[in-house]
Amino acid sequence: MSKSLQAIRGMNDILPEQSPLWRYFEGTVAGLLDTYGYSQIRTPIVEFTELFKRSIGEVTDIVEKEMYTFEDRNGDSLTLRPEGTAACVRAVLEHGITGNGQVQKLWYIGQMFRHERPQKGRYRQFHQIGVEVFNLDGPDIDAELIMLTWRLWGLLGIQDAVKLELNSLGTSEARARYRDALVEFLSARLEQLDEDSQRRLKSNPLRILDSKDQGTQAVLVGAPKLEDYLDEDSRVHFEGLKARLDAAGIPFVINTKLVRGLDYYSKTVFEWVTDKLGAQGTVCAGGRYDGLVEQMGGKPTTGVGFAMGIERLILLLETLGKVPESINRTIDVYLCAFGEQAELAGLRLSEGLRDRLPGLRLAVNAGGGSFKSQFKKADKSGALFALILGDDELAKQEIGLKPLRGQGEQQNIAWDALAEHLETAIAQA
Ligand code: ATP
Ligand code: MG
Repeated sequence: MSKSLQAIRGMNDILPEQSPLWRYFEGTVAGLLDTYGYSQIRTPIVEFTELFKRSIGEVTDIVEKEMYTFEDRNGDSLTLRPEGTAACVRAVLEHGITGNGQVQKLWYIGQMFRHERPQKGRYRQFHQIGVEVFNLDGPDIDAELIMLTWRLWGLLGIQDAVKLELNSLGTSEARARYRDALVEFLSARLEQLDEDSQRRLKSNPLRILDSKDQGTQAVLVGAPKLEDYLDEDSRVHFEGLKARLDAAGIPFVINTKLVRGLDYYSKTVFEWVTDKLGAQGTVCAGGRYDGLVEQMGGKPTTGVGFAMGIERLILLLETLGKVPESINRTIDVYLCAFGEQAELAGLRLSEGLRDRLPGLRLAVNAGGGSFKSQFKKADKSGALFALILGDDELAKQEIGLKPLRGQGEQQNIAWDALAEHLETAIAQA
């Protein structure tokens, strides 16, 4: 097949048969965020490259090797967004909606782009839903974000399959002190580190903590611990968060090696992980980024947020068999009409039904066809009922209502009683 007729590697179509699950997932999250009082923000998919370099950090996987960057016709360097926080911060600054300590509780949804090696749960275009809260600096809001996600796992029926990992990175000053101690320790053992970690020792030593290399992990056993370098404020904050999670009954484990891949975090970081998806086990990740807004040129403004990977959560729902049966029924009623006159009557009836029963999911047969072929389509549509309109029904101003899922016999209904009758029948089905 010609290359232009293939989607780009790592970028997926979401086909009609998959979209009910996507809409169920997205609707569940959006509905939950509404109940917590978060507002949606929508930013462009493309931003100046500089925005991501400045916020995410030059020496990170994303900026070093994953961004889709190109020059536009004006010669500006633009990048397809690899994550949502940078644009969110840019937008609140540009529009001044976090000035004077104004609190913002925001969420976003959309495509993200990273040039990674495509595999199960890892794609080049993927989707995230994320939340960002500005100007609330206590552990209570960190706890709210975690409780909200925990409630979401409950709604989706996957609480048993995910585990919360938690750590505190301290302030950037505390982290700098720790970094020095870690570099000193590891420099003395340089030859025992894997190649990647040797390179990171100069560029981003904290990332060595989550190296997958066994030799490196063995060296790290004796290394200085970040928790011993935490500043008092961060320590109190972390204790406050843990106490709240305990009070809410949310289980967690402390993972002192959790550093997250981005530069901008401070204090709280967390990940929800599952062991059901192989190597791509992190379904939701986030943390606090109190210094980011200022670093990007704004007034000091604290921030905390998270992002969840929709593809991974959809995979998890499928893997665990937690896809509700009901989401796959997209229509309730399929109307079949035979002959020109019946088709016209069917048109009037169906428009009348849509007026009387807003929200009724009604498909009207298109393209004519024999009784048998229309009936087959009605059955295949997944509808609960077929409405049948032929010459006989037309003459009597009636319509046949045929249950398609074994809910009793076909009966004829007078046109003016149809809406009421259908409403009851669907409710009882
Ligand atoms: P990973 O360690 O798996 O690469 P990350 O730390 O790079 O993840 P974040 O930037 O924290 O990921 O993004 C938040 C979430 O978005 C991840 O936990 C994951 O669920 C999802 N995600 C990240 N990258 C991808 C990708 N390439 N394909 C699909 N989902 C992704
Ligand atoms: Mg990554």
